[in-house]
Amino acid sequence: MGFTPTVDADKCVGCEECVDVCPVEVFEMKNGKSVVVNGEECLGCESCVEVCETDAVAVEED
Ligand code: SF4
Ligand code: SF4
Repeated sequence: MGFTPTVDADKCVGCEECVDVCPVEVFEMKNGKSVVVNGEECLGCESCVEVCETDAVAVEED
């Protein structure tokens, strides 16, 4: 069982909130957008989902 975080680049406005809030550094900024670089570390806390004002982040449980 694990979690798969994703960022919709079309919705991301580059605020960096998800980068700052994630306790396991799943996200990095690249070219002004958040990208998932460490998705296998995701704990499923959904802090990134809560903090993203444009609903660009999703976390799926698998
Ligand atoms: S919180 Fe949302 S809008 Fe802000 S950088 Fe992350 S994905 Fe982009
Ligand atoms: S759910 Fe939590 S651990 Fe997973 S990417 Fe979002 S903030 Fe990081």
